Amino acid sequence: MHDLGIIGGQLYIESEFQRKNLFVKNGAISGISDGVEGCLEYYDASGKKIIPGLIDPHVHFALNVSGRTSADNFFSGSVSAAFGGVTTFIDFLDPVSKALDLPGALKRRKSAAKDSVVNYLFHATAANPKGETEKIAMEMKNLGLHTIKIFTTYEESGRRTYDTEIKEFLELSKKYGFMVLAHVENDDIVGMHPKQLVSNLPEARSEEAEITEALKLAAMVRETGGELYMVHTSSGRTVRELIKCFSGIVGNRFHIESCPHYFSFDDSKYENEDGYLYTMIPPLRDSRAVRLLKKYSNFVESIGTDHCPYMENEKARQWLDEIPMGIGSIEHSFVVMHSILGNKAIDKMSRCPAEIFGLYPWKGLLAVGSDADITIYDDNENYRIHGNHSACDYTVYEGFDVKVKIESTICGGEFVIRKGEFKRGNGKCLL
Ligand SMILES: [Zn+2]
Repeated sequence: MHDLGIIGGQLYIESEFQRKNLFVKNGAISGISDGVEGCLEYYDASGKKIIPGLIDPHVHFALNVSGRTSADNFFSGSVSAAFGGVTTFIDFLDPVSKALDLPGALKRRKSAAKDSVVNYLFHATAANPKGETEKIAMEMKNLGLHTIKIFTTYEESGRRTYDTEIKEFLELSKKYGFMVLAHVENDDIVGMHPKQLVSNLPEARSEEAEITEALKLAAMVRETGGELYMVHTSSGRTVRELIKCFSGIVGNRFHIESCPHYFSFDDSKYENEDGYLYTMIPPLRDSRAVRLLKKYSNFVESIGTDHCPYMENEKARQWLDEIPMGIGSIEHSFVVMHSILGNKAIDKMSRCPAEIFGLYPWKGLLAVGSDADITIYDDNENYRIHGNHSACDYTVYEGFDVKVKIESTICGGEFVIRKGEFKRGNGKCLL
């Protein structure tokens, strides 16, 4: 006897939809078949699509930077995630320069995340780890962490990691088996100054800064044999240059992540009076860069939201250096990406991040034995996005017309969202 039977829907198996029923027992998928097997409870999924629970590998809940905290804590952020069909997210530890500080950083974030209603995991983060790279790598592995984020920029706040240490981390990634995540901007040509306007953001943090740094890091990956994941790639030109010069490693040892906003908006938003609502780093690019991002989307392996919203009154400033950078989008990421890329969005938001971050085949796959993390959506529904369940008081996707609607989100066999209503959730730390 199964706990739950999801009957009458279309299951996403081997990158296509098949009309089958899915059964769940003890938090795992216990059967997939054409027939109806005995269950304690049935869910009528007629006409609905059933996919592996979505994974957002890049979020910042309760992020503290320069005395400000991002609007969503782990509860509100994870509820918003669940409404978006997300069953696992990966957040970040505070940056450390010394291996000694890593266990404390993990403990703090784990304790902050305990209210999460969906599953979660963390990336370690380094900040200028001179002379400490190997110790940090060993301590990371020791704590069960398999990813470390570095910034090639933010020298002014002490978060920049320099080339010598980046190269060391890449060599170590091969030796110890972990992944380097990189925020990729050439710090020497980033031109942030006081008294810049919102409309100055795209030139201050230019596409050129992203492209030149990405090419350098790709060369380092090729030389060292290491593995790198480039977070929040903002421009299709960056993707085009990477595949032109490094086709052998892109999608293999050099992974490209982009975010829904870089597919959805261009930098003309910054000319509007409310342009501050769209401020994030890296910024939006011109309309041709957006078109190229769609054109080369096959090389974008993974979609992360970089979810980091701030309230409208915190964003509403004239000068760039007074605006907290970041926007929220976890709740709308799948419906928006599906409206842009169609079914190609599914793997980029489930199987691919699961594979890259070592969660596959427990996550990212509908198969007997995999965890019962499942997203059910309706693709017969055209609707206009209105509001969200995040603690943030605005969404950049307000008024966006989309073609799919999340109906239910199941995490570990339990409904977190059932037919559009929040039930309850007990997210697990996947460490
Ligand atoms: Zn981020």
